Amino acid sequence: MARGKKERSILISEKAELSIVVPIKLDLLAILLGASIETFPNESISKLFGNREGNIIYPIIAFPYQVADRTRQSVDFENDGANDVNLYLRKFLGLKLMGDHHSHPYGREGMSLELSDEDIKDMRNSVNEFQTPYLSLVTAIRRYNTRELRMVSTENGEIVLAYGRYSTRTAGYQLNQKNGRIKRVKLRLET
Ligand SMILES: [Zn+2]
Repeated sequence: MARGKKERSILISEKAELSIVVPIKLDLLAILLGASIETFPNESISKLFGNREGNIIYPIIAFPYQVADRTRQSVDFENDGANDVNLYLRKFLGLKLMGDHHSHPYGREGMSLELSDEDIKDMRNSVNEFQTPYLSLVTAIRRYNTRELRMVSTENGEIVLAYGRYSTRTAGYQLNQKNGRIKRVKLRLET
């Protein structure tokens, strides 16, 4: 995700800290992957609404932005429509804005699940605007070809899903406003 700027991948930390487990329901993941597929080979961007208990975020509903300026490595969704829809959803869903999701379409340069410096900046801005903690999900998506469904929650906290013409890996990051740290969380797929 980025606001009109090109993304560059950087490392958050050498080691993933996976002490926090975030449950992801399959129907929520399907919406996020659907948005990633629709906009491929450009980026998708969605907002996540849900609840939290203590440090654990429970994303329940996703709203993929339909109007945005997209490229392979950025998406600019800052417009009046996006602001209006955030206000509307928060008013009527009875849920809080808990984070966002965006895709990293694999290009020849091979984008990964690592957050870019733009992603980190956006995450910090979102936390200031909304609340802590803040969840950011990233899906690395590339072309594939299989009729066999592969769906796995991996040991390192990713969800791998391959089907049809796409293969995806999804990872999660959480930002703690108190100490400003971003850490990887473990995603657990709930079917
Ligand atoms: Zn990104």
